[in-house]
Amino acid sequence: MPGQAVDVAVVGAGPNGLAAAVTMARAGLSVRVYERNSTVGGGARTAELTLPGFHHDICSAVHPMALASGFFRRFGLAERIELVVPEISYGHPLDGGRAGIAFRDLERTADHLGIDGGAWRSLMGPLARRADQVAQFAGSPLLRIPAHPVTTARFGLRSLEQGSPLWNLRFRDEVAPAMLTGVAAHSIRTMPSPSTAGAALSLGAYAHGRGWPVPIGGSQAIVDALAADLIAHGGEIETDAEITDLEQVRPARAVLLDVAPKNLVRIAGDRLPARYRAALERFRYGNAVAKVDFALSGPVPWQNELLRSAGTIHVGGTRAEIAAAEKAVAEGRHSDAPYVLVSQPSIVDGSRAPGGAQVLWAYTHVPRDSDLDQTEAITRQLERFAPGFRDLVLASSSRTAKDLENYDPNYIGGDIAAGAASLWQLAARPTLSLNPWATPAEGVYLCSSSTPPGPGVHGLAGWYAARRALKAVFGIDNPPDLSPRS
Ligand SMILES: Cc1cc2nc3c(=O)[nH]c(=O)nc-3n(C[C@H](O)[C@H](O)[C@H](O)COP(=O)(O)OP(=O)(O)OC[C@H]3O[C@@H](n4cnc5c(N)ncnc54)[C@H](O)[C@@H]3O)c2cc1C
Repeated sequence: MPGQAVDVAVVGAGPNGLAAAVTMARAGLSVRVYERNSTVGGGARTAELTLPGFHHDICSAVHPMALASGFFRRFGLAERIELVVPEISYGHPLDGGRAGIAFRDLERTADHLGIDGGAWRSLMGPLARRADQVAQFAGSPLLRIPAHPVTTARFGLRSLEQGSPLWNLRFRDEVAPAMLTGVAAHSIRTMPSPSTAGAALSLGAYAHGRGWPVPIGGSQAIVDALAADLIAHGGEIETDAEITDLEQVRPARAVLLDVAPKNLVRIAGDRLPARYRAALERFRYGNAVAKVDFALSGPVPWQNELLRSAGTIHVGGTRAEIAAAEKAVAEGRHSDAPYVLVSQPSIVDGSRAPGGAQVLWAYTHVPRDSDLDQTEAITRQLERFAPGFRDLVLASSSRTAKDLENYDPNYIGGDIAAGAASLWQLAARPTLSLNPWATPAEGVYLCSSSTPPGPGVHGLAGWYAARRALKAVFGIDNPPDLSPRS
């Protein structure tokens, strides 16, 4: 495995590992990436999982951070790949054919909400109009003085309200609360809580700000663009190369690991002081995900017609129903009426499936380490809001929570956030520190989504870790230019 000595070794070719590698290579250092899988991408791979010609996103599918992330904006992602922004960011069906529709246009969304339109406007408007400032705050370590204190204060106050038992106070109908809960549930935790409310408000602000883009060709396009830039700047990638001990990647002067804290302990062993190891072992992993990909003969027959052009759909019913489903999962049970996160990328990207057929991406929340196949539970929930769905299924492919960890060891027990996204663990990720990417072992950095700013395809954890390593190990203060033209 070890080739010629390099300045920097990166373990793991997920979006954060590749972002770190690109940053180091752009600073003029020699970089080698080691990836245990046979292809790059981690949680952003695309493959024919069901039938030939049907291209499914194995993990991430929708990319609110592709346009909002400070790293991707520096990298010029939108100039390198084609990102389509659906006119409807997300939809939320309720029984009887009703639905909440989050148009990119905030005013249209408010008008569609009727009696709660004003409440939506006053809650989301100030954040949606400053979605880039919200992204800057949400994409920064929590222990940092915010660049936009007024927006941050607005965000904080709204998170406290929507994260408290008073969360229904401003609403008169059930549609708007259900919409917020559908987005909050992305953080896979019990509700209401300030951290789930924070997810709802930040993702909700992007939905009306820059939208929730879908890459043409699938999420793989994002990581392929990172890998191509790395190679163009002299970097190397070794696939089928699992690192189990730090010695395998020495004598690189800096090692950046795109791994979960539990696996950092295994790889670095007693090169980490006992106190730090103990802190990593206290890091908590969250509830899990089980996923099903469908090949369909045609578009999903959503009862509410507007949902047919929504990029993402939150299935699970009312605010109370979704909160109950998440509570069941947190208590170690599989909900009878689970929350299901659905993406229908082929409505905007014809390259995903042949001749009018569709791919459908869906996952639900389950207790950690679950090995139950959720195909039937997800199908039942889809039938509830799209009668006839079952008849369109040509093939499906299921991954249990256990399968997800086998596929990518960062997802401990099927926790796709690589560490519970509680308020505490968004600050102490993986430990409470102003420089949480650095470890006590010389030149060794953690750069995965188990570090700030947490889960999602944004490359920011890799960028922050690389910036710290550039400065501490190589004495390089200035951030490298990442733009496609340099
Ligand atoms: C089912 C699912 C759906 C998701 N949906 C979305 C979504 O729609 N939008 C979104 O923004 N985010 C989504 N996410 C989350 C997102 O994919 C992750 O937050 C993101 O990929 C984290 O990036 P990362 O680089 O930190 O880690 P990962 O993407 O997990 O990459 C880690 C890489 O390191 C490799 N690796 C680990 N250990 C070793 C080792 N010892 N040696 C060599 N290689 C190693 C792994 O094989 C993997 O390739 C989803 C995740 C999952 C699983």
